[in-house]
Amino acid sequence: MAGNGVFAEIYDGEAEVYRYYAEGEWRKSSSAKSVSIINPTTRKTHFKVQACTQEEVNKVMDAAKVAQKAWARTPLWKRAELLHKAAAILKDHKAPIAHCLVKEIAKPAKDALTEVVRSGDLVSYTAEEGVRILGEGKLLVSDSFPGNERSKYCLSSKIPLGVVLAIPPFNYPVNLAVSKIAPALIAGNALVLKPPTQGAVAALHMIHCFHLAGFPKGLISCVTGKGSEIGDFLTMHPGVNCISFTGGDTGIAISKKAGMIPLQMELGGKDACIVLEDADLDLVAANIVKGGFSYSGQRCTAVKVVLIMDSVADEVVEKVKSKMGKLTVGPPEDDCDITPVVTESSANFIEGLVMDAKEKGATFCQEYRREGNLIWPLLLDHVRPDMRIAWEEPFGPVLPIIRIHSVEEGIHHCNASNFGLQGCVFTSDINKAIMISDAMETGTVQINSAPARGPDHFPFQGLKDSGIGSQGITNSINMMVKVKSTVINLPAPSYTMG
Ligand code: NAP
Repeated sequence: MAGNGVFAEIYDGEAEVYRYYAEGEWRKSSSAKSVSIINPTTRKTHFKVQACTQEEVNKVMDAAKVAQKAWARTPLWKRAELLHKAAAILKDHKAPIAHCLVKEIAKPAKDALTEVVRSGDLVSYTAEEGVRILGEGKLLVSDSFPGNERSKYCLSSKIPLGVVLAIPPFNYPVNLAVSKIAPALIAGNALVLKPPTQGAVAALHMIHCFHLAGFPKGLISCVTGKGSEIGDFLTMHPGVNCISFTGGDTGIAISKKAGMIPLQMELGGKDACIVLEDADLDLVAANIVKGGFSYSGQRCTAVKVVLIMDSVADEVVEKVKSKMGKLTVGPPEDDCDITPVVTESSANFIEGLVMDAKEKGATFCQEYRREGNLIWPLLLDHVRPDMRIAWEEPFGPVLPIIRIHSVEEGIHHCNASNFGLQGCVFTSDINKAIMISDAMETGTVQINSAPARGPDHFPFQGLKDSGIGSQGITNSINMMVKVKSTVINLPAPSYTMG
């Protein structure tokens, strides 16, 4: 179980606080302060982690810099071998890590296990992809550009950036951490992780799996503490050469403060689901429920607004309501579909959106019900653009339906959003689907399925306020390297067989 067995050294049983990871050791912070992690279900402190100091962050950065130099000289096959080892250890210990996810972020028990296994698979795939794409460079000859003869050979290769700072969000604290850690390491970088407070203990267990795999001291570190307290110090630290961040608007603030370093930002979304008259309405209803309510709507790619042709809206609403009636609501330990949202302030925010919609006349398809952080799934019909829920990301089990009278109206609503993560369109006409997909200003459009981040090797990116750069295993590796050229200058032009 958590903090026991192979994980015993990550826990200070006397003080009942989890340690942080630096220079290959599990340590207590000199701050003597801790941060409480509140269980969303019981609303009581469940775990505590160290509140790391700025001095400790400085030490971690220094150690990372030294370790990175040696790591860059480590053969690619050996880096891959260690990553495969870490992946296997992670999967072997899926149960205690999943247990933490259940307690820290109220993730349904089965989904928590899936997150850990998926993370192991992601690490292994990254090791394989890294060996392939980093094992190859490019040779360019000079005579392809006007005015040159073949007297220069350019060898271009991919080199590490240095120290990568990874900051994942609460909703996938393991998966969205390894999606940054594995590409950084295979590419020859050192890695500093700042886990989300809710989810920090799961992340510490995951880091211990990398420790057990035998990565060199100092190469990987994990500093804990509230983002609002150590976040700025980390993101503006001169020792950081790249930031990979996933989360909400915090990412926009970070991108304004960070120095001249590469940024990978995966931020919020308001994923629209456009439904045309010729769609398979059973498929639509199934995807609206799965897309809108999985993990209680706390997914970046959840369906966050349904834009449906008025002529089929009544039928779809009935089908959705009937499927929603089958969703189980309760604690994550019972593997319920709808579990408490992550914090009380999130629940209050969601309630604010619901009350605004109520005042402005939305139709409630179910009664609004809340107990603590637990909010029962709610479908709001006849939502209009003057309601906050038409634009804002609830990150909870509340889904607005806007009835439209033309495809253009749906596309217009989607594109008027400040977000542009994903979107989806349901129609049986593939030609229309492609044209709508082209018109939607989002990083991905799913045709006849709800938005989704996986499989993890697919490119994944947001436009506008939804992000900078692109993720997905291959893109993340490429983002965490820089191209270096070495040019061989011959004394005279030389042509093979010439
Ligand atoms: P968040 O509040 O932005 O937090 C994300 C991370 O940033 C956490 O680790 C947080 O640490 C840290 N942080 C907070 N303040 C910081 C600062 N000043 N400097 C540096 N780091 C700081 O987001 P969240 O509530 O965890 O996650 C929900 C959001 O993430 C939603 O908007 C969702 O759409 C988005 N998301 C996007 C994707 C995607 O790929 N596009 C995927 C998943 C989620 P603390 O926890 O300690 O505050």
